[in-house]
Formats: sequence, C-alpha cells, structure tokens
Amino acid sequence: MEGVPLADIAARFGTPTYVYSRATLTSAFRAYQHALSGHRASICYAVKANSNLGILNLFARLGAGFDIVSGGELTRVLAAGGQPNQVLFSGVGKSAVEIRQAIEVGIRCFNVESAAELERIDSVAGEVGLKAPIAFRVNPDVDPKTHPYIATGLKSSKFGVAFGEAAGLYRRAATMRNVEIRGIACHIGSQLLDPAPIAEAAEKVLSLVDTLAVDGIHFDHVDLGGGLGIRYRDEIPPTVTDYLSPLLALFQNRREALCFEPGRSLVGNSGLLLTRVEYLKHGEDRNFVVVDAAMNDLARPALYDAYHQIVPVTQQPSEPRRYDVVGPVCESGDFLAHDRDLAVTAGDHLAILSAGAYGMAMSSNYNTRPRAAEVLVDGDAVHLVRQRETLPDLYRGEGILPA
Ligand SMILES: *Cc1c(COP(=O)(O)O)cnc(C)c1O
Repeated sequence: MEGVPLADIAARFGTPTYVYSRATLTSAFRAYQHALSGHRASICYAVKANSNLGILNLFARLGAGFDIVSGGELTRVLAAGGQPNQVLFSGVGKSAVEIRQAIEVGIRCFNVESAAELERIDSVAGEVGLKAPIAFRVNPDVDPKTHPYIATGLKSSKFGVAFGEAAGLYRRAATMRNVEIRGIACHIGSQLLDPAPIAEAAEKVLSLVDTLAVDGIHFDHVDLGGGLGIRYRDEIPPTVTDYLSPLLALFQNRREALCFEPGRSLVGNSGLLLTRVEYLKHGEDRNFVVVDAAMNDLARPALYDAYHQIVPVTQQPSEPRRYDVVGPVCESGDFLAHDRDLAVTAGDHLAILSAGAYGMAMSSNYNTRPRAAEVLVDGDAVHLVRQRETLPDLYRGEGILPA
C-alpha cells in the first residue's frame, strides 16, 4: 500500500486491520473535482460508506461537503472538521432530536423523505426559532439495474416521496412558516454501472422543477445523489467524467446548482482488509482457508453475496488449491469468498481488496469480536486512525442483576 509493505502493517498493528491509501482517496476525490470544474456543483461525500474520522477529515481538507443519514454521522462530520453548512441530511427515519441538532448547527439542507417528516421538521424548527432548509427526495421510479438490496429509486422502495406526490408536498411546504425550500433530490441506488438510469432520473426531476416553477417554487440546487459503481471483479464502471457529462449537459443552461453524494466510488477501492490465515482445512468436498476476519468485519459477501478479490500478501512457491475463505463466526453465511485458487499456508496474510466502502462501516461485534483497527497510509508513513477495540470496550455499559 503506497510505500509500505502490508506485511509490516500486519506485524505492527495486528489483524484484522483495514488499510486505506491517502493517495487513492485523494485521486478519487480529485476525479470528481476535475469533472465538475467550471460548474456550480458540490461533492457531498456519503458518510455511511466509511465514517472514519481520518477519512472524513481528509475529504473536508479537500473541500468536500457531506451527505449524512443520522445525527451520529453529523457529530462525526463536525468532529472531523467538516462544515455544517455543507451537510445534506438524508434518511427515512430522522428523529426529532436529530432534526433539532441539525437545525441548531445550521446544516445546508434536509432531504425530506415523507409528508410526516415535513410536518415534524416544520414543528421542530418552530420550537428552535430557525427556518429549516429543505428538499424532497423524490422517487423517480427508474430501475438502476443493480442488486435489489441497493436499488432505492423504484416505486416499491421505502425511500423518497412518490414522484406524483412531490408537487403537492412542495406546495404544502411553501405555505409553512418554519421551512425554506432549497432544492430537490434523488438517489436511485448504488453500485451503478450504467449511467443511463441516472440521466433518466435527472430528466424526470427537471420536469418536476419546471412544473413547480409555474407555481413560483424555485430551487437553488438539484441533488442527484451518489451511486457510481466500482470494479470489484470484472465490472467496467463508467469513468467519473463519462458518468457526469450527460448530467452536466442537462444542466448547462439552468440556474440550479448541482450536488452529488458519492460514497463507494470515493472510498471503495482506496481500502483493503488485511487478515491472517489461522488454519487450512482440507475436506472431502471442499477446502477452507480459515482467516481471522469474518462477516462481522466485512459483511458484504454474507449480505449481498458480494465478490471481493483476495490476494496473498507474500507469494508462496506452492501450487494453488481451490478454497472457500471463511471466518471464525458461527454461521454458515460467514464467508468472505467462494472457490478461490490460492497458494497459502497457515500464518500467511491475505489482502481482501476493494473493502474501503461499506466494510468497516457495516462491521459489528457479533460473536463478541472486537472490531478491527484502521490505518491510513500516507507515502511511507502509517497512521493509526482507529484503535482495535478491546474486550472491555465491548461490554462497557452492560450490567448484571443485583445479588
Ligand atoms: C448510500 C447513499 C449514497 C451513497 O451511495 P454510493 O453508492 O455509496 O455512492 C448517497 N446518497 C444517499 C441518500 C445514500 O443513501
């Protein structure tokens, strides 16, 4: 990773450890900045993809805004040096406490996902005595052609307000005393490999913008969400420029600024999960590499049957054999990979690639497993950006019945 052998990182920090590259994070962000230069557009990193403070701080230094889905993420962004007035707040279940926190610190905009949430925001803003900036997240009902768990813009999805209801909701919002209409948003899904559905969604959103202009409702920004896919195996995602150009063309002569909320495409291929081989287990039917990382560390294979490339950190001279790579967790769903040809022995280290997005962020303590350490590599330097959890960390706050 950059100038540092992964074996040295494993020796120094132990395993499992998430390892990120500053240079790769930076160049992923710069690709968006480059494609958007000369346009009025902001890049609001989707914090849920990887919410480590070190990474948030790096993006804040590069000029990013942030897309958040909880008050917890807002607190992280502020702790990492992010500007509240560059924060967009998405999510279907914002609590009154979260809404109040966001209004008080002065976020840029709420992406409102239901009529009931609009009422709640208006009432909380009234209590606080400030106007809440809002956009509706509309559901354009386009098929993003991705995994059903990460498709979010279909009619059947829990996300956003129905396209046909949006105009009425904006008219209602325009009458409210404590909200201020700022924009309109959509986000149709994740790991998108075809730019066409986003362009289709953008056109639908623009038609709504024009309809509402007749009612005197105008927008400062149009937020087209995130979702650009990355290569895990053999996918060929569009380049950032190819993905953004048709969208920029649609907005060429328009007054509204653009927002994007990329997550995976900024961090996914900037990180890997470093793990150690505990045992080899050769069976009649299948062979297993049992490693010290598991589904609690990287849930994507168990959750979406996702593919992550796995490479040995040091090459072995032996012949490869076909293995399932599995963790110690007591679930048959606990696998990291199926049918990989690997030449490994116990004690070797493996790098599970493309693990920077939805890796650590989705990790848990299942089986009372402390969560992994995280390090950020910068040239020849390695910075610990999250200590490995200790066991007392795991049961802090628990209690037992009185004697
Ligand atoms: C998850 C999410 C994103 C980021 O999606 P990626 O596929 O990681 O780019 C952006 N916006 C919203 C509202 C999201 O929920």
